[in-house]
Amino acid sequence: MSTLPHCPHCLMPVPGAATLPYPPSAMRCPNCRLIIGAGRARAEAVADEGEARSRGSAAGVLANAARRVQAEVGDREEVLDGLRRTAALVGSGVERLRMLDYQQAADRDPTLLDLSVVLATFTTWKAARAAAATADVAEVAVEEGGGASAQVA
Ligand SMILES: [Zn+2]
Repeated sequence: MSTLPHCPHCLMPVPGAATLPYPPSAMRCPNCRLIIGAGRARAEAVADEGEARSRGSAAGVLANAARRVQAEVGDREEVLDGLRRTAALVGSGVERLRMLDYQQAADRDPTLLDLSVVLATFTTWKAARAAAATADVAEVAVEEGGGASAQVA
């Protein structure tokens, strides 16, 4: 129900902005740090804050930034291996690995392929993650959400 100015990139409400058009001059979004051109804020009506948060996560912004890099397609196995190693590192299942976590890990670990290469190879983060999770399934017996890891052999 909100008609407050929202960032066109991350769709989060722009703090301190109450009316459209906004902003009067180009500004940097405090949430995603991309530039909002003068008058370019949107009256994006979002159902609730939670939805805005999930849609406006830094991940989408990250993906767009990575796609702008003309990355070479990488070796599939190397990409998948990187995803699995990162998932192990952050302690989440590879199917739940967040792009943000991968990006941060790749920043620190030169042996991990750049996120842009992952996306160039698999087109989307979800596809890359799914491929890594699928290839993993043989070893990691289905671990349904929640703490109970029932190893069904
Ligand atoms: Zn933003």
